[in-house]
Amino acid sequence: MWITFEGGDGSGKTTQAELLRDWFEQQGRRVVRTREPGGTEVGRTIREIVLHSRGELGPRAEALLFAADRAHHIDTLVAPALERGDVVIQDRYLDSSVAYQGAARALGADEVRELSMWATGGALPDVTVLLDLDPAVARRRLDADDKPFDRLESEKAEFHARVREAFLSLAAAEPERFLVIDATLPREAIQALIRARLS
Ligand code: C5P
Ligand code: MG
Repeated sequence: MWITFEGGDGSGKTTQAELLRDWFEQQGRRVVRTREPGGTEVGRTIREIVLHSRGELGPRAEALLFAADRAHHIDTLVAPALERGDVVIQDRYLDSSVAYQGAARALGADEVRELSMWATGGALPDVTVLLDLDPAVARRRLDADDKPFDRLESEKAEFHARVREAFLSLAAAEPERFLVIDATLPREAIQALIRARLS
């Protein structure tokens, strides 16, 4: 079972993924918790490059680095875990690339999706949870946290609006894979919806 979490920055992906991990572990399942970018040692190096390049990278180089991280992550971590029968719970996957690089950076959704499918051999999760949130609300949440913003989190409002729209249209195109949830709901309510879908 492979579950990915998608949504803008500050939408609560990590919180929900952790709660879901607990649920599977209570059932005696082995869980691999991971994320993109940065789920592997190589990926963490790539993540540093992408997030701290401060505008030196063009959008194509950025997209290729995310794809390289993804190829390595799937090959060395996700595919072996799924083969063992583990549950993989992952923050972000190709839908993030389609939304951020494809739509928000205007490289083209189809091109970026194809790049990602090439990188991974076409692997797709069983379920993708989209935590949908108004970027203005997300911004207030992130501002309330003390953590420093990285380059991408400092993008302007229209950028995040394009990301949100792109996620929603991806979900509409693949309703059997996606579970779209209003991320302003209480976190217990969100978790209950996710568990209900997976039961
Ligand atoms: O979700 P996480 O905090 O790991 O993402 C790090 C940053 O990279 C975020 O600002 C996110 O918006 C950005 N990102 C991106 N394209 C992706 C994945 C993440 O721009 N494909
Ligand atoms: Mg973030």
